[in-house]
Amino acid sequence: MRTVLVTGSSRGIGREIARRFAMQGDRVVINYHRSEDKALSLQRELLAAGKSAMVIRADVSCEEEVRDMVQEVERSFGTIDVLVNNAGIASMTMFNDIDTKMWNRIFAVNVNGVYHCCKYVLPSMISRKKGKIINIASIWGLVGASCETHYSATKGAIIAFTKALAKEEGPSNIQVNAVAPGAIMTDMIAGLDKAVLDMVVDETPLGVLGKPEDVAGAVLYLASEEADFITGQVLSMNGGLVI
Ligand code: NAP
Repeated sequence: MRTVLVTGSSRGIGREIARRFAMQGDRVVINYHRSEDKALSLQRELLAAGKSAMVIRADVSCEEEVRDMVQEVERSFGTIDVLVNNAGIASMTMFNDIDTKMWNRIFAVNVNGVYHCCKYVLPSMISRKKGKIINIASIWGLVGASCETHYSATKGAIIAFTKALAKEEGPSNIQVNAVAPGAIMTDMIAGLDKAVLDMVVDETPLGVLGKPEDVAGAVLYLASEEADFITGQVLSMNGGLVI
């Protein structure tokens, strides 16, 4: 049985990714930061379905908490076979209203969080010469979003990081890929004006917003043996908004 760590899987896209891995028979580690009840409710749902799921709190921006989380998983299950770096934050803020604290926090979670998780998960993958890392980027890391310069910069960084790490870890048989979702209906965009969401739908050839399931399917594929020859790639599920 593979062990899959999905960061930020108490809610939204990560929650669906963790659910899908568990339902196909993998052991999932549900990581959360603030939403303990939601993480526990997913664990209950999965255990009731006869699946394997562990819950661990850790703020991915904190190196010590990530180190402790990875050590706890490795003590319990031996190894982490698949790491999904999903935890992330966003805000719609005009560039001139972004202060240094906001800028540093979004980098701390969206970029440093990915660095911390890779730093502590990779050594055992390298020693086994096997592992899959999937980073959740965004279309805004590909093309940039107005009023989200800080967020776009973090996701662009994740895309470059993915490509660089894929080159370095390829000889260790570790595949590192990213997905770059378009607008996906989760809490992250639920607070946006309806007019903004309507505009996104209008500009999307498929004429709909995405669902967490649309991202989860691609992540499961990239984590599967079917994708063993794919590394350093960015798969974008966006309804055609970015082609
Ligand atoms: P969401 O509904 O707001 O959920 C965010 C998740 O990340 C929650 O489970 C949250 O956990 C966790 N999280 C936040 N800060 C954390 C931290 N410091 N440490 C650990 N976990 C943390 O967001 P989402 O839409 O599912 O987004 C998931 C990922 O997809 C993010 O990387 C996001 O940038 C990316 N993405 C989203 C969209 C979209 O349109 N929704 C599009 C492209 C990319 P707690 O609640 O427990 O704190």
